[in-house]
Amino acid sequence: MGSIKLEQVSKAFGEAVVIPSIDLEINNGEFVVFVGPSGCGKSTLLRLIAGLEDVSGGRIMIDGVDATEKQPSQRGLAMVFQSYALYPHMSVRSNIGFPLKMAGMDKAEIDKKVEDAAAILNLTDYLERKPRNLSGGQRQRVAIGRAIVRSPECFLFDEPLSNLDAALRVNMRLEITELHHKLGATSIYVTHDQVEAMTMADKIVVLNKGNIEQVGSPLDLYHNPRNLFVAGFIGSPKMNLLSGEPAAKYGATTIGIRPEHVALSTTEGTWKGKVVVAEHLGSDTFLHVQTEGVGLLTARVGGELPVRHGDTVYITPDEERMHRFDEKGMAK
Ligand code: ADP
Ligand code: MG
Repeated sequence: MGSIKLEQVSKAFGEAVVIPSIDLEINNGEFVVFVGPSGCGKSTLLRLIAGLEDVSGGRIMIDGVDATEKQPSQRGLAMVFQSYALYPHMSVRSNIGFPLKMAGMDKAEIDKKVEDAAAILNLTDYLERKPRNLSGGQRQRVAIGRAIVRSPECFLFDEPLSNLDAALRVNMRLEITELHHKLGATSIYVTHDQVEAMTMADKIVVLNKGNIEQVGSPLDLYHNPRNLFVAGFIGSPKMNLLSGEPAAKYGATTIGIRPEHVALSTTEGTWKGKVVVAEHLGSDTFLHVQTEGVGLLTARVGGELPVRHGDTVYITPDEERMHRFDEKGMAK
């Protein structure tokens, strides 16, 4: 239960083709993240799966059954949105129980399901409160609770953490991952944030202009990006991408070297440059270095490094960990 298969799924709004054609398999119990820049079609794809939009072509199979024409409520999915969409005049209890009430379930059964969900989400003490008396994180948990009570085969999350501040986002990220381990239901999670994708996903689907650039585990994408888009999108700080003469020397049109895969020296190395900005994080030092031959490079060094703006440094790439791309931007 909870497997989803997209077969040549496409979507156009009038003349505008947002999703040309997508094939994708999502296995039961997987946590799949759709990641890509804003406007690339992530929400549209999720809404197609949910049945909130009609496909322009192709089929959506859920548990081996063609669900393309099924109503959203018939698909066994539950969606959690970025805007929590809670009813302000209703208590947490009523908000979480709302879909069950709509489905005509009796009150005792609703209470039981709501209380079980509240226990999972640490909301037991807040059941009689109104949403305005909750923190952002708690409101998001209420929205998740409303999805949980429906016992869906698959949870669909559309940028659920975008409205939260950075610290809370990290917390909720852990909570959602933990919840996934507890419930074991398939989850599809949409975000533009590659860190969320890397930290939460079993499988990442990188989208760009409505096309899948690559599907893989976080470390697959990190170690073996198929093309320049994925190389530049996954990883923080971003991979250094160099073309022209320095790349030709390594037999490629473009070479990619991650900031953490260079050696730094103050006396010798492959590329000489001046430190433009030194970011001292304590755990790491990020150096943005204007080199003489290859432009601006970012280097990441573990721990503290007594290097400052204006210092001369040398950067040497670890050739074993260098990525090579051809003239079409595909990995060689
Ligand atoms: P993302 O979630 O990745 O930011 P969306 O799926 O929301 O992207 O949007 C993808 C593209 O589809 C955008 O160019 C957007 O303007 C367009 N789009 C989305 N919904 C509609 C709609 N109902 N009508 C017309 N264009 C739409
Ligand atoms: Mg979106």
